[in-house]
Amino acid sequence: MTEQGPVEERIFRGIPVSSGVCHGRILVLKKAELSIPKYDVSEEDLPQQVQRFEQALITTRREILDVQHKISKAIGDEEARIFDAHLLVLEDPTLIDSVTNQIVQKRVNVEWAFHEFTEKYTATLNAIDDAYLRERAADMRDVNSRILNNLMGVQRQDLQNLREPCIIVAYDLPPSETAFLDRKIVLGIGTDIGSKTSHTAIMARSLQIPAVTGLQNASQKLQSGTYVLLDGYNGALIIHPSDQTLFEYGQLVRRQVNIQEKLREITVLPAVTLDGTKLTLSANIEQISDIESVKYFGAEGVGLFRTEYLFINRSALPTEDEQYDAYRKVASELKPQPVIIRTLDLGGDKFISKLQVAQEMNPFLGWRAIRYCLEEKEVFRAQLRAILRASAEGNVKMMYPMVSCQDEVLKANAFVEEYKAELRAEGKAFDENLEIGVMIEIPSAAIAANFLAKHVKFFSIGTNDLIQYTLAVDRMNQKIAYLYEPTHPAIVRLIQMTAEAAHANNIWCGVCGEMAGDPELTPLLLALGADELSMAPPLLPQIKLMIRRLKNAEIKELGEFALKCDSSREILERSRALARMAAPGLFETQM
Ligand code: PEP
Ligand code: MG
Repeated sequence: MTEQGPVEERIFRGIPVSSGVCHGRILVLKKAELSIPKYDVSEEDLPQQVQRFEQALITTRREILDVQHKISKAIGDEEARIFDAHLLVLEDPTLIDSVTNQIVQKRVNVEWAFHEFTEKYTATLNAIDDAYLRERAADMRDVNSRILNNLMGVQRQDLQNLREPCIIVAYDLPPSETAFLDRKIVLGIGTDIGSKTSHTAIMARSLQIPAVTGLQNASQKLQSGTYVLLDGYNGALIIHPSDQTLFEYGQLVRRQVNIQEKLREITVLPAVTLDGTKLTLSANIEQISDIESVKYFGAEGVGLFRTEYLFINRSALPTEDEQYDAYRKVASELKPQPVIIRTLDLGGDKFISKLQVAQEMNPFLGWRAIRYCLEEKEVFRAQLRAILRASAEGNVKMMYPMVSCQDEVLKANAFVEEYKAELRAEGKAFDENLEIGVMIEIPSAAIAANFLAKHVKFFSIGTNDLIQYTLAVDRMNQKIAYLYEPTHPAIVRLIQMTAEAAHANNIWCGVCGEMAGDPELTPLLLALGADELSMAPPLLPQIKLMIRRLKNAEIKELGEFALKCDSSREILERSRALARMAAPGLFETQM
């Protein structure tokens, strides 16, 4: 179907979540407005309603297991594991008990009882200002619509057998549907809702389909068949693109192909400046399956293994053996390259249901991370023993998160010694010289870095939290995001002080927060004395290219300027100007 009348270029702006550009006709999937029947149920028919609910849960479980199996074969185990969270929703006792009670107490049909409960539940999750919980609400919506469809005998739209190439525009596209899209047919995805960390976005990136979320009401406003251009670099859906727009985007795509080819070529080359100063580039990982991309993007090991993800989305804590297995696999696959395992960083923005600590007024300033581990000795013991045992099978290092004072390091190190003695007595192998470092992510740790350096072998600066705690800006709060400034003079000084303290004590200093993966800030981090940068693996090639284009004299001059300057904006502009001059091609995705 084509549109009638004069056509004018129009733009919907959203969040770029999967890079690339495509153009073609759209297929609009409108938000399904199911009308939920409500009727009274007699006493003797109540068991039948409960039985229908149970049957719908069983059918849905079968469907999800089927989806999971197909995804595991077609894409990979990591993507398939996303559906573990969906299976957990089906077992949620709150869901099962509440819906069953509603049916019995209110004597209503199951569709109504189910719809009432899930609407309230997801609205509550959505209202909480927490990205992780919002993603769980999205998982619930996906599962709930399956259960409801099964209760009402509704067929889902079949996206697996599309024949004409198209760009899908939808209110939301559940991950279970995104995972089966054929990327030769589905050229791009645009959704009204969703964020960068939503599972749909993760799937789109895995499939390398350009995608933009947060397009607000695009699916309501647009009709199938409309010709559009989707820009996954900058987050735009351009309706009726003009010849000029198509031409300009054609050039952008050509430039991108060139830059990607160049980046592939340098994967095997070292990260050295033009004058030969060597930097170490490592990867931040969350799970075992990330090993592939650590290798693919040419990282020199793992600079941050966030172990929280081994604890999330499961009903029991991982045992020592289970953790040992995970750490051992990563260490032995990447050997002789180092793998820095961070001990459990629970709390603040990272919640783990089984380890949920009591409600606190200020969870970001509360009983979390190393503070929690030092008291919950059994949890810490299992992890430390697992890490120690894994150190026998590769180049394992370990670091503590959220350290605020020297005492915490001394206490944690004492536990390590105690568990080393246990393992020795048990005849279990470990690396006697396992290197231990600390994350510098609290201002007190940066200011007292000189003292901390005496007890550890390296520092890794967690800029995400260092910025949050130094500037008193909640890193999750959109409303004050304008205050979250990585180039604030206070942050610049703290990074420089930390690196200086490290070098004065003959230890090295890395950066593993998001700043490390931003090419505009690479010159600044080098200028402040970073020896290692650790980031999400796909960001590595561009940071390496940047480093290989910088000269020591330019870096030194930038450092002197940054330490004298009182303006975040000016420091950013100077680092940005140097970065753009050194590697202009990296910034050619902007229109
Ligand atoms: C940081 O705070 O910069 C960091 C790397 O840790 P996380 O983002 O896991 O808190
Ligand atoms: Mg942190």
